[in-house]
Amino acid sequence: MTIHHNFIAGRWAEGAEAQDNVNPSNTGDVIGEYARADREQALEAIAAARAAFPAWSRSGIQQRHDILQKVSSEILARKDELGRLLSREEGKTLGEGVGEVMRAAQIFDFFAGEVLRLSGEKLASTRPGIDVELTREPVGVVGIITPWNFPVAIPAWKIAPALAYGNTVVFKPAELVPGSAWALADIIVRAGVPEGAFNLVMGRGAVVGDAILNDPRVDAVTFTGSVATGKKVAAACVGQMKKFQLEMGGKNPLVVLDDADLGIAVDCAVNGAFFSTGQRCTASSRLVVTDGIHDRFVAAVTEKLKGLVVDDALKAGTHIGPVVDQGQLDQDISYIDIGREEGATLAFGGERLNRENPGFYLQPALFTDTTPEMRINREEIFGPVASVQRVKDYEEALAAANDTPFGLSSGICTTSLKYASHFRRNAEAGMVMVNLPTAGVDYHVPFGGRKGSSYGPREQGRYAAEFYTTVKTAYTLP
Ligand code: NAD
Repeated sequence: MTIHHNFIAGRWAEGAEAQDNVNPSNTGDVIGEYARADREQALEAIAAARAAFPAWSRSGIQQRHDILQKVSSEILARKDELGRLLSREEGKTLGEGVGEVMRAAQIFDFFAGEVLRLSGEKLASTRPGIDVELTREPVGVVGIITPWNFPVAIPAWKIAPALAYGNTVVFKPAELVPGSAWALADIIVRAGVPEGAFNLVMGRGAVVGDAILNDPRVDAVTFTGSVATGKKVAAACVGQMKKFQLEMGGKNPLVVLDDADLGIAVDCAVNGAFFSTGQRCTASSRLVVTDGIHDRFVAAVTEKLKGLVVDDALKAGTHIGPVVDQGQLDQDISYIDIGREEGATLAFGGERLNRENPGFYLQPALFTDTTPEMRINREEIFGPVASVQRVKDYEEALAAANDTPFGLSSGICTTSLKYASHFRRNAEAGMVMVNLPTAGVDYHVPFGGRKGSSYGPREQGRYAAEFYTTVKTAYTLP
């Protein structure tokens, strides 16, 4: 089997080690072998990015636009093939995989446009005769560290703005999904990014990630992943006075009020909590439901869950693919045990499933009779597990929704303008959804959270410029 190499300093470089990329729908299917870099190779990539920065940061906007546009076009043209690869290595359904790939193409297209829209501001000085000019300049070498659950979209929403605004990149994808990362890197490289401006360094977090965090030649780090790793990123970056941005976990609530349209509420809950196998930072893991609709809502969600097909991600008709790996499956099952021990009722699912091929299949699990202090309502599980919390009215629902250390996405299903408006204003989250699932966002508007979910400027849309540029104020006496 050919080994997929890292891309360092303008060439494909053999790794110190290699790893098998295993299909979670069928553990007998090895997708390919991928290089694992050691510390020296990570340092080489950083040196290359540093050396390429002066030229790339001053490259013309047409060149940067054209490269990003080319990346977008190729991703779009190959969406079915790339979507298949993504689903095969991560386990989300083929429809979700292709959808994510299309999203990546749209993101590169958006930032290709942003290159041409780069602008500054000219103001009069308070001192007569002097001009003041505000411009945005690239930050420098950006380290990009990404998780496994969106193997193409998250790298895209970091790499595209980094390159668009003139930064050079050292990209370290998650260990579990090197296939999508490698395919994306191959497209970026062939689109004509100059030597050193873009580097792919697949490898372990504790080795490659750690090298990126602790090297003073890296100016900024953008990270998406768990809270535990995020804290390490923050500590290292503060120590080095690097700019950093963290997108981490969630424990997102979906409030369902008595006056909700039951069909919409059930669709929002099932989609938000269980699609993509519940492995989304924006998943609705807490369903906060008022008394009057509670029993009808639980019955309808349970009925819908019974009809969902859990199977091979690539099979037509599959609604929910496998969990990503054995470690995540063990974590999901251990939280299902914890829920039971805490006294919650397992109203549906939670069983390990066997399918034609050996894979990490888990029946979606729905808990009822849960209380706010239970661990299943406080800690991120990151699997197809959701819990219903019964509340008496809107006020109690809002308090329950906000009662979490996280603050990424928060949703409400209601037909009341009064409650919808009040919730939009008072939900302690970076993103609020009314009659929509907590997961599912646009790519041209800011993405991110509050409290323990995020740190630093928002990602995506025009707000991405906050992180990937630094502002210069110039005073001129003509
Ligand atoms: P993780 O924290 O285990 O890993 C994320 C990345 O950090 C990986 O590339 C990993 O190799 C790297 N890493 C690990 N240890 C490191 C270290 N010591 N130094 C530097 N890098 C290191 O997270 P994961 O399991 O890949 O992803 C799941 C998590 O990501 C969940 O908590 C989920 O909520 C979160 N997530 C958040 C968002 C968001 O935008 N808020 C989006 C998707 C996923």
